[in-house]
This record gives sequence, structure tokens and C-alpha cells, in this order.
Amino acid sequence: MAPHPVVELTSEASWNLIEDKFTPYGKETLAKLVHFLQDEILPSMKLAHAQVPKDSVQRWKTVVPVIEELKVKARKLGLWNLFLSKTHYPEHGVPLTNVEYAVMAEILGRGGHIASEAVNCSAPDTGNMGSPEQQKKWLVPLLNGEIRSAFAMTERFVSSSDARNIKTSIKREGDEIVINGHKWWISGAGDPRTKLHLVMGKSDPDNANGYLQQSVVIVPADAPGVKIIRPMEVFGYDDAPEGHCEIIYENVRVPMSNMVLGWGRGFEIIQGRLGPGRIHHCMRSIGAASRALDLMIQRVTDPTRKTFDKFLYQHGTVVAEIARSRAEIESARLLVLSAALQIDKQRAKGALKEIGIAKFVVPAMACGVVDRAIQAYGAEGLSQDQELASMFAGLRTLRLADVHIQQVGQRELKRAPGLHKRAAELKEKEFSVLSKAGIKAHL
Ligand SMILES: Cc1cc2nc3c(=O)[nH]c(=O)nc-3n(C[C@H](O)[C@H](O)[C@H](O)COP(=O)(O)OP(=O)(O)OC[C@H]3O[C@@H](n4cnc5c(N)ncnc54)[C@H](O)[C@@H]3O)c2cc1C
Repeated sequence: MAPHPVVELTSEASWNLIEDKFTPYGKETLAKLVHFLQDEILPSMKLAHAQVPKDSVQRWKTVVPVIEELKVKARKLGLWNLFLSKTHYPEHGVPLTNVEYAVMAEILGRGGHIASEAVNCSAPDTGNMGSPEQQKKWLVPLLNGEIRSAFAMTERFVSSSDARNIKTSIKREGDEIVINGHKWWISGAGDPRTKLHLVMGKSDPDNANGYLQQSVVIVPADAPGVKIIRPMEVFGYDDAPEGHCEIIYENVRVPMSNMVLGWGRGFEIIQGRLGPGRIHHCMRSIGAASRALDLMIQRVTDPTRKTFDKFLYQHGTVVAEIARSRAEIESARLLVLSAALQIDKQRAKGALKEIGIAKFVVPAMACGVVDRAIQAYGAEGLSQDQELASMFAGLRTLRLADVHIQQVGQRELKRAPGLHKRAAELKEKEFSVLSKAGIKAHL
């Protein structure tokens, strides 16, 4: 029997490890996705970039035509909202486990944000849900790919990786909620299709529990007082039309029904958003790294390129860089698949260690692989003619999540008392074994 087409883009060994976790539907959908990536998405990527106008105003008003065409094709093929689990969303979801979707996310990672958008699996939309009434108004058009959304947490003058620091105020006035705050780096806020912002702020700043002070409120993007100040740039990329915007919310008023989940439940929402979504980012990063390695191999075996009388691949350091990249990609994939399996078995709460490790290991690994590919391409690798530079910018952003090193390290340190106890027991046993053998132990 022919191997599953995913093997060509991942590895036979990792597929053998997880194939039995896939249902027939999962396998078939994955095969369709691999073909859709190769036949439709990758050939359209340059066109998608070319269709974003250079004009500084027009580029923010554009809905990229080829992505819209890809969306229609993907939906017809059943490659739509694959991230949304039927277990949690019986009405709209698809019957895929985390492991199944994780492999699909790796495939999507090869096609950057265009691939994810084509199958309606783009962050931040994938995490922006709400109550049944809110879902009717916002979730359905999001799932139909008709509108987009933004999640506004990070603030310009606040260290936002600790969300307890957030200062935006969320206050009740009569039967309205009033929002005042200064955010930045809000992905998607530049997109003309973005119709809602989920804004995190402080609704109960005096609560003794720092994790119950925050709430999340739905703010229509066109509400009076929502002021988009400017798009931020990562190494010069503005990622138009989605963008990552600086926004001031000035006396924005929304009805009480726009509160998500309930007052003081903001942390619960960000935890829920970040659960499985965390490994989706990781698997997409592995896909990006794999694509970068493919590009690197193509470049160093290009018969028209020789330096110092050798083809690039004949230089030992280049071969070593390829080997190192392959080894790192394979290890990272196993790491993330084990996190996905753990989420399937224990839900996100029972997989915090595995998710945390993946979160800081994978983006750093992928940055390293892309950096080596850039090196192999020389100056062209840093230019707009190759996708490597923008790939690096995207992956470097994910490294801001290195904050997980702290959590994983602290979790490990908690094992210290048990390790000391066991070491003392071992010493005692060693002493007894040595004594019986008549050897004087130097303890
Ligand atoms: C392209 C891009 C898109 C983004 N999209 C969004 C979005 O859609 N919505 C949104 O709300 N935000 C978004 N962000 C912002 C991002 O989430 C924050 O930048 C990130 O959370 C870090 O917060 P900060 O910039 O305030 O840095 P700070 O909180 O000041 O932290 C500075 C550095 O310290 C590190 N750090 C903090 N604590 C620890 C620790 N305990 N151990 C080790 N290191 C630590 C952090 O990782 C960070 O690297 C985006 C950022 C970028 C670049």
C-alpha cells in the first residue's frame, strides 16, 4: 500500500507512531490537506503577497482575492474550521482530536498565514468564542470566514506577559460597560473584515485575588471611541492587511450582554484560549522549519552555485547544518505530538508541562533552522525574494513566549525534595551493599 502522503512532508517514523490515533476521516482529511497545500496554496503564495497593494492606505483596505478563492475551494473540499473540535462545539465542530489537528497544523505551517486563512484556521480567530447569544452574532460569521476578530490584551506601557499588570479599565455604568485603555500589537485589528475586538481589562482592580480582577468584553470594531493609532512592524513587516495595531479605547460603551463568560473571568478566558492553541502555533512552526530546510537543501544542491571550487553541499559545515536541522525538527515534532496526546488524554490542564516545554523549545528551534536556511541563501535569504526573512520574523515573535522557561523550571524544581529523599535512600543501600562485601565505604 502506498504510504500516506503526509510522510513526504513529515517523517515515516513519526507517522508510524501516531497513525493508529487517526480515524479514517482524519486520515482522509489530512491527505486532502497535503494535496491542497501542494497543488493550491504553495503556488498561490507569491500572488497573495503581490495582491496586497504597496500604497500605504490601500494595503489596509484590501481583501486578498486569491485567498478568498482558496477559501471557497477549501470549504468545498471539507477543509474548513479544522481546529474546532466537535467534542466542544457539537454544532459547528469537526471530529478531530488534538493529535490529528496537530499534524494538520504542521502541514499548514508550510504555507504561512495564507494556508491557515485559506482553511479558516487563523489565529486569533481560532480562540475568540463566547456565550450562545454572542456566538450566534459573532461566531457563526467567523466560522463562515465572513468576518475576522482581534484579541486585545497587550498594553503599550505595561509588561503584559504578566496579564495581572493590565491597566485598561472596564466599568459598569447603568446598563452599559465603559472601556478606557491603550493597547498595542493587536493582531488582525487592521483588517477591513475585522468586526470585533475581545478586549481584556480590569473590572475589579481591588479584588484581593490578582487573577479575578480582569474581564473580557466584546467591542465592535466600529464602536465610537475605538481609535486605531498605527500598525506596528516586526523587523519592518507590517503584515497588512491584518496588521498588529496600536489602539486607544476611549470611553467606548457597549451593552452589558457584551461581557464574555462573566465579570472577573478574564483569566479563565485567556487560559482557555491558550490551551490547545499553544500547540497549534508549535506545529505550524515545525511546518515552517521543515519548509525552510527543504528550501535550504534545494539551494545548496543548485548546480549553478559553487564556492571555493565546491558545490555548497560539499562544504562539511553546510552538511552538518542540514543534519542538525533535521534532527531538531524530528525531536521537536515528537515533543509536540506527545503534548497533543497528553491534551487528548488529560485535557490542556493535565498537559501543562508538555505544552510549556514545547512553547519555548519549538519557536527557538524553528528560528535556528530558518536562520541556517537564510545563511545558505546568502543576501537573497534576507530579501523579499525569498519567504525566509518573513518566516523568521513570524517565528521570532513566538519566542516572546520564552516566559514558559520559568514555569517549566519551577515545576522541575518542585521535584527536588523527592530527589533528595531518594538519594539518601540510595546512599543507605549502597552503604549496606558495600559493607556486606567487606569494603569500607567513604560516605
Ligand atoms: C507580531 C506580534 C503579534 C502580537 N499579537 C498580539 C495580539 O493579537 N494580542 C495581544 O494582546 N498581544 C499581542 N502581541 C503581544 C505579545 O503577546 C506580547 O508582546 C508578549 O506577551 C510580551 O509582553 P510585553 O511585550 O509587554 O513584554 P514584557 O511583559 O515587558 O516582557 C519582556 C520580556 O520578558 C520576558 N519575560 C517575562 N516574564 C518572564 C519570566 N518569568 N521568565 C523569563 N522571561 C520572562 C517575556 O517573554 C518578554 O520576552 C503580539 C506581539 C507581536 C510581536
